[in-house]
Amino acid sequence: MSDCIFCKIINGEIPSDKVYEDEHVYAFRDIEPQAPVHILVVPKEHVASVADISAENSHLAAKCLEAAAKIARTENLSSGYRVIANTGRDAGQTVFHLHFHLLGGAELPAMIVGDAV
Ligand code: 5GP
Ligand code: ZN
Repeated sequence: MSDCIFCKIINGEIPSDKVYEDEHVYAFRDIEPQAPVHILVVPKEHVASVADISAENSHLAAKCLEAAAKIARTENLSSGYRVIANTGRDAGQTVFHLHFHLLGGAELPAMIVGDAV
């Protein structure tokens, strides 16, 4: 998707603070961190949101979660972390390229990520 900001980050058109990359997954630090560790884990292939996960592409979501677990280990989040996928307008999704927020590095408040609607 040529007008998608995360596609541009993945293909290097927009710089990012990359923390992990493999065949299917790209992960980078959120530009507005809401926890000491705040990483976005995204599939390289454009999928708009959780609502667009299907039998054909669900392996990409699984790869993202596998990567999230790996990254959590390298970021020393052994005391816990949160994985969030805001989905659609009511949830505060602002970028319509599937992404999993990986948040940790401190005790997290009950609610985090996205503005209250
Ligand atoms: P959403 O609100 O869609 O769940 O999350 C989108 C996230 O992307 C937000 O936390 C926002 O800070 C982050 N973000 C938006 N644009 C950029 C960018 O250009 N670079 C980085 N690293 N993060 C971004
Ligand atoms: Zn995209």
